[in-house]
Amino acid sequence: MRKVFHFDSPAAPYVADAAVLCCFDHRIGTAVRKFLKKQNIERADMIVVAGGAKTLASPRNDFEQDFILEQVRMSIRLHQTRRVLVMSHSDCATYGGLAHFKGDAAAEAAHHRSELLRAAALLTTNFPGISVEPYFVNFDGISEVLSAEHAEATPQNPTATVGDIA
Ligand SMILES: [Zn+2]
Repeated sequence: MRKVFHFDSPAAPYVADAAVLCCFDHRIGTAVRKFLKKQNIERADMIVVAGGAKTLASPRNDFEQDFILEQVRMSIRLHQTRRVLVMSHSDCATYGGLAHFKGDAAAEAAHHRSELLRAAALLTTNFPGISVEPYFVNFDGISEVLSAEHAEATPQNPTATVGDIA
């Protein structure tokens, strides 16, 4: 091998602050990174794949869902992960973008909410004892997806804003 880049990386083993499943869409990358920093998540096992939570909620095939569950399993086993953040985002191409919802951001958010809750339920079923947090990323921030009980009280507001993440 021929060294082409020098950089000193921390070599010590680590316990992951969280595993994070999110889409590879470059547009949301900075928001996700800043949000993780604000959450004091410094050591994250990033599972970055097209669609993010969709790979669990509405997988294209059996392989996709199993593969992602195995990635979470490995994070738990190798890095003692106790917390999993599962994310999807507005205008995600794997859902046909915002255009699939005819530009209706509220309809899109409602659909993603159900997807995120399904993904979270799958993770909770597979990994009891792990804290699972579903989040929806759009172009002005990140929203926490509330539980079904809470959402029933405020059906016009499918998500709750976590706060300024800038
Ligand atoms: Zn996407």
